[in-house]
Amino acid sequence: KYSREIQGAHGYTEISAPLINNKKLWLISGHWAHYQNNMFIVPGITKGVNATDAVQGEEAPEQYSVDAEDTMAAKPMNCPNAMMSYKRTMHSYKELPIRYSEYDVLHRKEKSGQMNGLFRVQEFRQDDDHTFVTPEQIKDEIKDVIAIADEIYKTFGITYRAEFSTRPDDFMGDIESWNSAEASLKAILDEKYGEGNYEINEGDGAFYGPKIDLQIKDALGREWQCGTVQLDFQLPHNFELTFVDKDGAQKMPIVIHRAIFGSFERFIGIITEHFKGAFPFWLNPYQVAVVPIRPEHNAYAEKVQEALIKAGVRVESDLTDVNMRDKIKKFKQMKDPYILVVGDKEAAENDRGAKQGKTMMYMFPIISLWIGFTIPAALSLYWIIQGVASTVLDLILNRKYRKIYDEEDAERLKKALEADAIEAEKERLRAEKRAANPDGITENTSKKKLQQIKQREQEAAKREAAKEYALKKGIETEEEA
Ligand code: ZN
Repeated sequence: KYSREIQGAHGYTEISAPLINNKKLWLISGHWAHYQNNMFIVPGITKGVNATDAVQGEEAPEQYSVDAEDTMAAKPMNCPNAMMSYKRTMHSYKELPIRYSEYDVLHRKEKSGQMNGLFRVQEFRQDDDHTFVTPEQIKDEIKDVIAIADEIYKTFGITYRAEFSTRPDDFMGDIESWNSAEASLKAILDEKYGEGNYEINEGDGAFYGPKIDLQIKDALGREWQCGTVQLDFQLPHNFELTFVDKDGAQKMPIVIHRAIFGSFERFIGIITEHFKGAFPFWLNPYQVAVVPIRPEHNAYAEKVQEALIKAGVRVESDLTDVNMRDKIKKFKQMKDPYILVVGDKEAAENDRGAKQGKTMMYMFPIISLWIGFTIPAALSLYWIIQGVASTVLDLILNRKYRKIYDEEDAERLKKALEADAIEAEKERLRAEKRAANPDGITENTSKKKLQQIKQREQEAAKREAAKEYALKKGIETEEEA
């Protein structure tokens, strides 16, 4: 999403092309001749060329062969398809530069010993691009690519170093094109990094064009090659690409192959090491973890989670019977930037675990601000912004959810009080009624019942009189015994 946003702002058009292409495409691009061993190939069906079968007049059996016309291969690079995309229509010089960005899945066959975690895989995606330019546009275009690289690497807090590879002995194309292209690249590098502040690898360029590699440095100081800006005089030639120039003549564009992240899989590997797993808030797979204090707060925790998802926040929760402190510990280990502990207001405030959770909520913004103010220049600005943004978010989150919390608590209390009051009032009325009319006599009470009541009263009066008499005589009554 981030990559797409930046490229969209820089005038890139995203394309997508088939993952599996006919061998003819790879023959034109040169991959069949030079890259076949790294490609996953689907052999086509061919008639057998069995001499005996031919003599006997029998139909030759079908068999699979990479020589068959319908042989296909999964793409190891996006370039040939991008060339075909350009070739769909005629182009005028006014349309250039044309920038085709692409995130298609690529496949490269690697030997099992060469595969290495996320750093080297057989299926991956790149932030690939092929830009078609006139020779005069090279300089501005490369400048823009480097501006994009600056923006992206800075966002991740990664520094980088440029390397410039120049014309090899077995170069392709005319030497004037090479000289002017190399002069353009050098001018940009001098302007951007200052003469001598980038490495020059004389004669190390590809046979089809000079290139600039961007080596990024992670937190541990290790270098990784991620970004590449590669000029290409060969592919436009192979695919016979043209544009109509100002003078009406058909000319060949120059292709710039370009990637900033390189393989996303690899980049994820690099930044995981770089951040030691503690990704910034915007990047973390889970931005918030919700922990209910006790099982009876699960429903509320789910409500909070739902509200956060709706707000576009990536959130996870743990509603199992495990102890709350263990859950907090787990999410801390997972390095979730925020842990929201939810429960009754009093419990949340009095519980030690909840306090730990709240401390966590303020940690990231404070650390960001601290880093921002202590380290120099451009990088610190990023951390300050990050810190301020997190603080604001923190306040919003806190206020928003504290509010939900308070409102809900108040509502629950109000309802409980209301229910209690109603019950108490009812009880009071019942007691009043009982006192005024202990026998529950109404207009509808039958004569028989009234007689019974009267009889009971008379008996009670007799017992009372007998009791008094017995007390007077000092004799215990039956009842008291
Ligand atoms: Zn390419």
